[in-house]
Parts: sequence; C-alpha cells; structure tokens
Amino acid sequence: MAKPKRNPQMEKLVSLTKRRGFIFQSSEIYGGLNSCWDYGPLGVELKRNVKNLWWHNIVTSREDVVGMDAGILMHPRVWEASGHVANFHDPLIDCKTCKARFRQDKAPTLFHCQNCDFQFKVADGKISTKDEFAKHFADDLLAEETESYIGGDCPHCGAAKSIQIQKRMCPNCGGSDLSEAKQFNLMFKTHFGPSEDSASQIYLRPETAQGIFVNFDNVAATARVKLPFGIGQIGKAFRNEITTGNFIFRSREFEQMELEFFVKKEESQKWYEYWVEQRFQWYQSTGIRPENLRLREHRADELAHYARACTDVEYRFAFGWSELEGIADRQTFDLDQHIQHSGKKLTYFDQENNQHIVPAVVESSAGVDRSILTILTDAYWDDEEHKRVVLRLSPKVAPIKVAVLPLVNRDGMPEIARRIFEDLQKHMAAFFDMGGSIGRRYRRQDEAGTPYGITVDSQTLEDGTVTLRDRDTLEQVRISKDQIVTTLQHKLAL
Ligand code: ATP
Repeated sequence: MAKPKRNPQMEKLVSLTKRRGFIFQSSEIYGGLNSCWDYGPLGVELKRNVKNLWWHNIVTSREDVVGMDAGILMHPRVWEASGHVANFHDPLIDCKTCKARFRQDKAPTLFHCQNCDFQFKVADGKISTKDEFAKHFADDLLAEETESYIGGDCPHCGAAKSIQIQKRMCPNCGGSDLSEAKQFNLMFKTHFGPSEDSASQIYLRPETAQGIFVNFDNVAATARVKLPFGIGQIGKAFRNEITTGNFIFRSREFEQMELEFFVKKEESQKWYEYWVEQRFQWYQSTGIRPENLRLREHRADELAHYARACTDVEYRFAFGWSELEGIADRQTFDLDQHIQHSGKKLTYFDQENNQHIVPAVVESSAGVDRSILTILTDAYWDDEEHKRVVLRLSPKVAPIKVAVLPLVNRDGMPEIARRIFEDLQKHMAAFFDMGGSIGRRYRRQDEAGTPYGITVDSQTLEDGTVTLRDRDTLEQVRISKDQIVTTLQHKLAL
C-alpha cells in the first residue's frame, strides 16, 4: 500500500499541540478514533477564547444580533426540509484492487482534450503540466475543484469546451479499476427512544444553522427584534466525512459558529457585502497574518441553486488555500422550506409597508476547530536563532497570558513569586512554574504561546523589582512588583 503523504509542517504542529496539552487524539489508549480530537488544558482555553471573541464580536457587542443555543437532536423532518436527507451526499468510489474507499474529488484524475488528445493530470490540487501551460491554468486550483476542468477549453490547442476526464486513479494504489461513484449521506444516524426501527431514526445535526431557522418565530416574537436582525449560535455539529485528515481541519465531530442575519430581500446584497468584510476583519483581529488570508467568491456553477452569492474566507495552509468559513446570501430558501414543510407562518410583519414578508438571510458559517488550526498554524515559529519553538499567539487568544517564575527555588523567591501569581490570577489567566531550569521553563511557555514571563530573582529581594520578558522579542525589562498588574493589563490590552 502507498504510504500516506507527509506534511512535515503539520507533523510538527501536531506534535507540539500534543506535547503541550492543546489537542489529543480521541480515545488514544484504545488506538485512537480516526478524525476525532480532544482538547487538553491549553486547548480548551484557546478554544474558549476564540469562541468568546466571536460571541462578543457577533452577539454581545451588537444591538441587532441575539444569541441562542439549540439542541443537537432535532425532529427528523427538519433535515427533510433543509434538503440534507436528499442532498447532503458525497460521491464515493471503491478501488477494486486495494479496496480503498475515497471521495470522488480526491482521486487523481487524468484529463484529455477531445480535439488534440493533450493530457494533464490533476492530483492534490496540482496540475502536472502546469509549468508548461501556466498562463492557461488557474493560479491556485484547489483539490476540491478538480471537476471544474470538465468541459473547459484546451490549454494546448485552444479547442472550446473540449476537456474531458480520461480516467480516475485510486489515491492509495494508483490503480484505475474503480467502481462507479455511489452517493453516501454524511449525516450520522441514531435512534430516539427504546425502539430501533426506522420510525425512531433521527440524526446528529450536521450544522447548527437549522436550529436557528426553526426557532425564527420564537426569537422574533420574544426578543422584540426588528429587521434587519441576526441570530448567532455556537455548537457541535457532526458529519460522517469520508475523506478526513489534515488534523482538526476536517473531523467528524466539530464546532460551528453561525450567524443567520435576516434582512429585507431587496437589501440582501448590501448586507452580504457588509458581512463578507466584517468576517474577513474578524480573522485578522485574532492575530492571523493578513497575507495568509483571502476571500474567494464562488463561481456561478459552484453556487447552490437558491444562493445569490457566496464567498469563502480561505487560509494558505501547507496543503493549499482552504476554506475557513462561507458567507452566503441564501435569499428566502431556508425559511421558505420550513414554511412549506411545517405549515407554520415563519414571516415578519413589515410595519412600513403593512405586510407580512419572508425575510432573506445572509449566513456566516465558520468552524471553531478550523479557526483554531489556522491560529495555531499561523502562530507556529521555529526560532532557529534562539533554538526554540514559539507559538506567537495574539494575547487575545493565548491560553495563558503570563507565567510567573522564581529564578531559583530558595532565598524566599518561590514565596514572593507565588504571591505575585495569586494576585495576577484575579485579573488574567496566569501560570506558576518552579520546576526545572529557568531556560527550560521559558521554552515551555514559548511553546504554550504565553506572551509574557515574570521572573523573581535576587534583585527582587533587594529592590522589589522583577523582570518582565517578552515572548517574541526576548526583551527583558525590570519593573516594580507593584506595577505588574497594570503594566500587563496595558500590554495585553485587557
Ligand atoms: P468543506 O467543503 O471544507 O467540507 P463545507 O463547505 O462542507 O466545508 P459548510 O457546510 O459550509 O462547509 O460548513 C461551514 C464551516 O464549518 C466550514 O467552513 C468549516 O469551517 C466548518 N466545517 C465543516 N465541515 C467540517 C468538518 N468536517 N470538520 C471541521 N470543520 C468543518
């Protein structure tokens, strides 16, 4: 069997997150559960910080958005109305030679021109002949877009609409004896109550959005909101993904942060543009470098039939530009579907025009875990000069804001450091560490992404000052013990 492809950058990150207690493989002592992950002590703080930033930005800092928290289990008819029962499929192919099963778009594909027989292969988002015909091929093709070459113009002879698939190959063994694609529904099924017949079958939600749509009327009636208004929600979602991998990028259990922003239909374009911009800014506000972020607007042939427009926020991972979030103008599709299937009036009374209307919706759908992977990837720094690994996390998301370290374990230094730590704990996430050499303790905090370190040393005993160490510049300044809290509050912008 072919070996899975290596991604050394990702391997380093996975190893660091395990070593420092950010993220562990699920059920590791039993051999692990594929594509499921557990967040450890530092990971849970990072995750909480990311979710809090989103919640504050989207819900609590705004007058026109309210929050909610729907259940994971919902009436099965919700998923009929939303289209998930009929359409939430991935095409799946079996390799008859090595028995591997994979998503159709993950198979390396040989294309050819029906006119001149020019051939090119697309594998892992890369075209083998791209260098030769660079100007004819899209710049930054993603693996997910392999199909988009079908019916394209030939980059060699120029014949219009002449590109077709010649064959697909197994990504595992390279063989081409493959089954036809079969549709595989990605929703996890379970049973409700004691019987296990088909009538009791329900699903684990594959997205949080439907919990918002089915509660549209409840929220509109109780929260006294006026159009335009939004409902935000953070919660778990489950998808029985066929192709998983890239660590927490695509897992079977993950969390989403979703906003459904309801507007008058004629204003949807304006709000769509507004939210694309807002969301792009938000990622930058978490400390991710702007040069590694981009917006990608969907082509007309990528759009769902009801959507008027959709833009993805993407990040430049080692495995290519990939989606972090989608912002879509979904028009009235979702509410219309639930009106039709439930028979309930999910409308809004427009006092200005004295009529009941079905609002259009602009959706922002982001993944918590993908945001975390992005933040960690972007922050990872091999500081070769100082022989250390650093997570340059923004103080806003860093799990620990400051570590307090006595230089040595005697002369009353641990006691002074402990008092400083206890005082700091009232104001911010702090950590006290007196185990091991000072250099090693600093390295541990660098890997944890802790922006500042306070060290109590012999001079502290003389003049009451401590050193304040900056994680990124390694600059050390002396400040008075009494100024620690205010100095850090200022530096961390808390
Ligand atoms: P992809 O094409 O990458 O599977 P999608 O287009 O199916 O994503 P959406 O249904 O739009 O994703 O979900 C919105 C967001 O939820 C995604 O942008 C992503 O951040 C997150 N998400 C979706 N599926 C997963 C998953 N399996 N693991 C982690 N996050 C996910």
